Amino acid sequence: KDENLLSEEDMKKDWKPEAPILYQHVCEAFEHIDGISARLEIQQTMTTLFRKIIRTNPSDLINTVYLACNDVAPSYECVELGVGDSFLIKAVTETAGSNSNTIKAKYKELGDLGTVAMSAKSKQKTLGFGMKPKPLLLKDVLQSFRKVAAISGNKSQAVKVQEIKKILVRASGQECKFIIRGLQGKLRIGLARSSVIVALAHAFVLSVPKGVKPMEKWVEGGNYSDNEKFLMDLKNPLGERLEAAVNIVKKGFSECSNFDSIIDTALVHPLCDLSQHCHLTPGTPVEPMLAKPTKSVQEVLKRLNGQRFTCEYKYDGERVQVHLTEDGKVKCFSRNLLNTSDKFPEVPPFVREACESSGVTSFVLDAEVVAYNAVKDILVPFQVLSTRKREMAEGEEAEVKVIVQAFDLMFLNGQSLMAKSLSERRELMKKNFKVVQNKFRFAVSLDAQEDGDTTAIEEFLDAAIKGQCEGLMVKTLDANSQYEPSKRSLNWLKLKKDYLEGMGDSVDLVPLGAYYGKGKRTGFYGAYLLGCYNEEADEYQSVCKCGTGFSDDALQSLMKGLEEAVSESKPSGYVVSDTLEPDVWFSPSQVWEVKAADLSLSSTHKGALGKAGNPERGIGLRFPRFERLRPDKKCEQATNAEQILDMYYNQDSVKGQGGDNDDDD
Ligand code: ATP
Repeated sequence: KDENLLSEEDMKKDWKPEAPILYQHVCEAFEHIDGISARLEIQQTMTTLFRKIIRTNPSDLINTVYLACNDVAPSYECVELGVGDSFLIKAVTETAGSNSNTIKAKYKELGDLGTVAMSAKSKQKTLGFGMKPKPLLLKDVLQSFRKVAAISGNKSQAVKVQEIKKILVRASGQECKFIIRGLQGKLRIGLARSSVIVALAHAFVLSVPKGVKPMEKWVEGGNYSDNEKFLMDLKNPLGERLEAAVNIVKKGFSECSNFDSIIDTALVHPLCDLSQHCHLTPGTPVEPMLAKPTKSVQEVLKRLNGQRFTCEYKYDGERVQVHLTEDGKVKCFSRNLLNTSDKFPEVPPFVREACESSGVTSFVLDAEVVAYNAVKDILVPFQVLSTRKREMAEGEEAEVKVIVQAFDLMFLNGQSLMAKSLSERRELMKKNFKVVQNKFRFAVSLDAQEDGDTTAIEEFLDAAIKGQCEGLMVKTLDANSQYEPSKRSLNWLKLKKDYLEGMGDSVDLVPLGAYYGKGKRTGFYGAYLLGCYNEEADEYQSVCKCGTGFSDDALQSLMKGLEEAVSESKPSGYVVSDTLEPDVWFSPSQVWEVKAADLSLSSTHKGALGKAGNPERGIGLRFPRFERLRPDKKCEQATNAEQILDMYYNQDSVKGQGGDNDDDD
């Protein structure tokens, strides 16, 4: 109950209506979360914090969410804090009046610069320097982070240090710790964005903001989704209504990709009306729909269970979401929502040309941009695209160009198409866009229905491979075929030729550390320790040591690319066995695609630790091989522990076996 939410003690501690929220209150919640690992308890802590803010000063809710997610802006705005460890050490040293060697040594010993800053500052206080500063406001911290991010140009690092010092001077205790960790880009308390979303949804149901009309029972025939109707009916059990609220907020977030719209809306309108205000809008990227891996045509058919489906070529390029906004601008976004309009300058004019005769006024199109040899009329491997030089792209006579292979349409002429079936979306796409030679085409497809005969699909898969594609994407066409943003859906299956046996897919891993090379590799890293992302606890779990697949050039460029990520000590949030201690640790900064022979239970590796039937053991990759960098993925989008577990259980060698197979090194 809201009346029990704020105790007298809380009120004494400045939780007063309309009083700006103190940063200290948020740090107390972070500190509590740091000491627990149960996801439910983490979510409850955040729910209580959000509810208190809704009750006292709701305008600070958005600031809290940004700090909890360690963001300064929506990810599609590509705003980076961009402060290296060495500059943070400088800021801490100067603020605490310490010595940089002492700070560095402590950092090495404790592995957390935040804790070092906290203790350096507290020592300074005991020595009696300075007056007690005014309490630090939550909004001041976020504002300061934003200022730091906005500083650019010559001497920017020095100016950033000055800005950081201004905020550090005002901070004390835990505040110093979380400011430093925040500036390093990771709070390291195991608070995942998904938990923030759950907590927000719960808070809005349990503490309806002032002025928001109570949810009325849904009107028969009204344009509400099942989740919205369920939430509105107060007779439904609270636990299930909360779950419906989470689905509503998740959907809103994946469609509009920013918390500002969600919170601005939910502070004014009941949650059941969220989708009317927070939806896909051309110009703002939507989280792309994702696919589940499969390993055989039979498995595909089994999963689709008699539904009508289409098989499309799975192109080996880069995903591009093309938007036409109402004011006539064309924008392109990558798989992780970054603006790529300049990366592939040909794409906007190609797509414009494809729809110029239909008079469309706005759209959002899903496509793959693929390297294309126009002279020979063949697709070329992705690597050629990623290493393509600008001059190569621009010359009229250049052989390697790009071509757009479109496969979905989510928005058209002011209307979202996401709830429509794929066959309807595809029909609208083909009606409004035309093939333009050497520039724009639709994904080659074969529609089918399960009739037990797999020959046609197998032949189609072969043709896809011969045509330089990775395999097939298989998608439901009618029922269950709406566009599901950010969802790894069973309605989209991927079937890759090289993985028909074994793991079903490659994995995308984060380099956690490296071992110095010997012999021919002296002077480089000889092998890397790679990890998957465990979303539940916001941590990285080691899954393999990888020393193969690197060309000499790759060894050099990977080492260079990781220079900035080298960490003085093992970053917290890394689940790695002591027996694997690398020579160098990295903070999470890149994603690499890795292929492997298979997955096995391991006594050293920690993938999905304790989930594969043995509490002590994790899952590791056998015979891993580096394939390529995935610059289009953020570290949190690396293969996650749940996917590793799914892939492990999906292996023929494990199916039906209680799963205790090989160990690895
Ligand atoms: P995941 O996170 O699922 O591993 P990923 O980015 O690593 O995704 P893949 O596993 O290779 O990519 O498969 C999905 C990707 O395939 C899409 O993101 C898209 O870029 C690409 N793709 C190529 N052709 C198609 C198609 N016809 N339909 C959908 N996606 C396609």
